[in-house]
Amino acid sequence: MFPLNTPIEKLSRVGKVSARYLKSLGIFTALDLIYNFPYRYEDYSSILDIKDLKPEQTVTIRGKIITIKNRRSFRKKMYITEAIIEDITDSIKVVWFNQPFLIKNLRVGDEIFISGKVESDNLLGLQFVSPIYEKINGQKSLNTAKIVPIYSLSGNLTIKQLRFLVNQALNSVKLIKEFLPEFVLNKNKLIPLKLALKEIHFPKSFKNLEKARYRLKFDELFLIALRSQQIRKYLAKSIAPAIQFKEKEIKEFVDSLNFKLTDDQKKAAWQILLDMEKKIPMNRLLEGDVGSGKTIVAALAILNAILSGYQAVFMAPTEILAKQHFLTLKKLFSDKIKIALLTSSEKTTNYLDNQLSEDWLLAEIKNKKVDLIIGTHALIEDKVEFNNLGLAIIDEQHRFGVEQRKKIKEKSHNNKIPHFLSMTATPIPRSLALILYGDLDLSIIKEMPKGRKKIITKLVSEENRIKAYQFIKSEIKKGQQTFVICPLIDPSDKLGVKSVTDEYKKLSQKIFPDLKIGLLHGKLKSDEKDEVMKKFKENKIQILVSTSVIEVGIDIPNATIMMIEGAERFGLAQLHQFRGRVGRGEYQSYCFLFCDNTEKTAERLSALTKSNDGFTLAEYDLKFRGPGEVYGLKQSGMPDLKIASFNDIDLIYLSKKEAKEFLDKYEIENFLELSRKLKEIKMIDHLE
Ligand code: ADP
Ligand code: MG
Repeated sequence: MFPLNTPIEKLSRVGKVSARYLKSLGIFTALDLIYNFPYRYEDYSSILDIKDLKPEQTVTIRGKIITIKNRRSFRKKMYITEAIIEDITDSIKVVWFNQPFLIKNLRVGDEIFISGKVESDNLLGLQFVSPIYEKINGQKSLNTAKIVPIYSLSGNLTIKQLRFLVNQALNSVKLIKEFLPEFVLNKNKLIPLKLALKEIHFPKSFKNLEKARYRLKFDELFLIALRSQQIRKYLAKSIAPAIQFKEKEIKEFVDSLNFKLTDDQKKAAWQILLDMEKKIPMNRLLEGDVGSGKTIVAALAILNAILSGYQAVFMAPTEILAKQHFLTLKKLFSDKIKIALLTSSEKTTNYLDNQLSEDWLLAEIKNKKVDLIIGTHALIEDKVEFNNLGLAIIDEQHRFGVEQRKKIKEKSHNNKIPHFLSMTATPIPRSLALILYGDLDLSIIKEMPKGRKKIITKLVSEENRIKAYQFIKSEIKKGQQTFVICPLIDPSDKLGVKSVTDEYKKLSQKIFPDLKIGLLHGKLKSDEKDEVMKKFKENKIQILVSTSVIEVGIDIPNATIMMIEGAERFGLAQLHQFRGRVGRGEYQSYCFLFCDNTEKTAERLSALTKSNDGFTLAEYDLKFRGPGEVYGLKQSGMPDLKIASFNDIDLIYLSKKEAKEFLDKYEIENFLELSRKLKEIKMIDHLE
């Protein structure tokens, strides 16, 4: 037994090289070995007499080596090791290829286990071909005669070595402390942690394995849920202005719109307005596909806050989007409320329609001459001071981080925390949202406004490339515009500069020399990006070649074609988001997916030609590519799920319920091991 933090180098059978490969798998200490779970198992637990063997069975036999020798095959200079193994019932032949050293280790008279599949050869009868073997020498077998774990490997690591190391580390499992309180264990019928950790590696039965998996999955999900619940509890302690729902005025406003709200919009608005009536800050995420009409829902919340005498702030990820929101809301509210646009390049209001000095505008805001302040996410960092802030909305971001929250509170000058609303067009299925954003309440707009034209989506093969270009040309002749999205091809080209630049050159020099083509990628500074987008918006650029940085939410009603290169490299949800950049005007729009020619790609991408629903596509993605791939969550602080998954829906709900009940009754600080464990998990809220 050694301490859990013993570095792997100190373990027996770990040399320098192995240590390096273990580290590449994220294994640095004995404890890491214990928490490095198998990804599957091989069942060698059925031990049979040799006389009872049947072809195709995967089994273990136990016997004595009667003969063992190497020979070389004639044609293929290969070593073949042949042995005869005998038990009291019968004997059987075993062969291995290219392992001549075996005869040094396995000798006549040795007792061994042989595990593997029984093969039948017409001439020679039954035999084992390259089975797993293990000498019986009084030690516990790790590779045969039981359910054996299969781990991810790297470099020269072998599976036998890893099993040996894990088994070694498991000697120290006694030192691991149970962190779940007894009553949680009992109530949820969970087995003790130490037992679960042993059984997950070397399960005595599949039933035990199931119990171990259940326990360890519960651990992961429960800790995440506790973390979210803690944030909720923290927020519940802070005080927000209770903003009365001005039903009559809001109704009048809704009736004055030139369209009818969808049911989902009504429901989302209702949830938000009720949240705002509470004395604790709203913490809500409004999810809705591109074009589903989130802005109007936000507008209702804004209006309601302002009617009660509060200010509201509305933040967008870029200056262009901030400007777009300013123009939209200006039109929507006409002169009902006073709106300011405050970005680094523009300072204006809807009541004094020119560029104003920053100091003057800041004073207006501070003195509450302005009701609604629109800007980029940088508004929080800026020197702006609010006066009686009641509502903060952030567009195209999944949540307010803890830091952002603090800063806003400091700026709101009423000693209260405003209500928070985040909005996103990323469709996140509920199960995943519960894991990732359990601290938030969710409103989802699934239904699109009526009368939207369906975007015609086509997979385009190489043979039809020219035709597609001709079509683009004809659309542009009619006055429309086109996006061209390029994937990151070269991993060293993280910002995609090379791939878009190549594409840009090709299109502007060879394919469309007479058209105006623009280029957008992650390496441009934000004002350069804004400049390109502005030109595109004004139709001074007809084709915009871009990496995936292309703005979410940007509204170019005149763009009707979205062409995507290397579409197989993107997830469906992301492709769907790109597609949402077109079809925003009155014209029929198109999405062309250029992709490799494999059947698998065609099958996956054809989902896009069939479905127009971001959530359906996201769920499809989740199934085939996993959440990290789909949402780029690896970078954005996806909690490290080793064993649980977003597919464990029942367990996700259960852990959430348990975490809530737990924190409703107890203070976490009174549970030493649990709070220690909780501190270990990645703090999602701090990373965004
Ligand atoms: P997003 O959810 O992508 O932010 P927007 O709020 O920009 O979507 O809305 C997209 C367009 O749909 C806007 O032009 C908006 O005026 C319009 N819209 C919103 N709700 C409805 C509705 N219920 N019926 C018709 N059009 C609507
Ligand atoms: Mg939007």
